[in-house]
Amino acid sequence: MRRVALLLTILVGTLRLEAATRAVAITFDDLPDINAADESVSEQEVVTTRLLASLRRSAVAAIGFVNEDNLSDENEQPDPRRVALIEQWLDGGFEIGNHTFSHQDLNEVGADVFERDIVRGETIIRPIVERRGMKLRWFRHPYLDTGKTLGDRDRVDAFLKERGYRVGPVTIDNSEWIYELAYLKAHYFQRPLIRRSYIRYMRDRFEFAESRSRLVFGREIPQVLLLHAGALNADAFEKLAAMMRGRGYHFIGLDDATADPAYASANSWAGGGVGWLERWGVAGGLPERRFENDPKVPLWIQRIAGAKDE
Ligand SMILES: [Zn+2]
Repeated sequence: MRRVALLLTILVGTLRLEAATRAVAITFDDLPDINAADESVSEQEVVTTRLLASLRRSAVAAIGFVNEDNLSDENEQPDPRRVALIEQWLDGGFEIGNHTFSHQDLNEVGADVFERDIVRGETIIRPIVERRGMKLRWFRHPYLDTGKTLGDRDRVDAFLKERGYRVGPVTIDNSEWIYELAYLKAHYFQRPLIRRSYIRYMRDRFEFAESRSRLVFGREIPQVLLLHAGALNADAFEKLAAMMRGRGYHFIGLDDATADPAYASANSWAGGGVGWLERWGVAGGLPERRFENDPKVPLWIQRIAGAKDE
């Protein structure tokens, strides 16, 4: 019995040790607020303040990717109150990146239009960042669509590099935006239920990414999580962070996550926007079907949101 107990102790110890080495970088898209079109500036101020406070309380590093069209007023001039939302992220010690001006889809619009939208998307944020002695370093493709062809992808990648950007990859991609949509539309009394379902869903997405990581690399690499700035995460991020900690994660920056050699793996993906684990896996010879059957947003959430999780 004692030997069994000892073995168990060692086993549990090893599992803990393994779990404690998990790392994740937190990234937010669609700053200042994914629901900017449906919310007043005052509402966005409340969301931003609450989201940043919960990021601080959870002691995470994070980067936020901005769509500048949501920083302008009706006359297409920078709206000081909206621009101040981005300053709030920087004041909180968080980094910001470019997510195109108007959330364009490279696979739809092609490289010419997309490159113009990249440039237009840094009109306000580049001077803001540089005034603080920082650099605008990261770019995230809307919909994770990095080009319908490798030609498009490589051309835009080279364009980004020339302007000083690195592409922000994602390994824990998910349909959390559907939850965000449902959260906004739901009755107030449904919100706690949606938050609870959201944490369960994200736990499943983590589990999926961890297993795909072991499949592709034979180990768990530092993950990069995609989230959106909005009311749901303003209310639920602390619970989400607790779930991640419970799985043994500690929080790192995007620089540190992408410094892992896995992120330099071959990637010949062209087509629909998928996560980087699938891109590396397929480039390494795994069939695409090994990345299907990923956890889906429950139907009742899709129904409230009026959006399909495909
Ligand atoms: Zn986006």
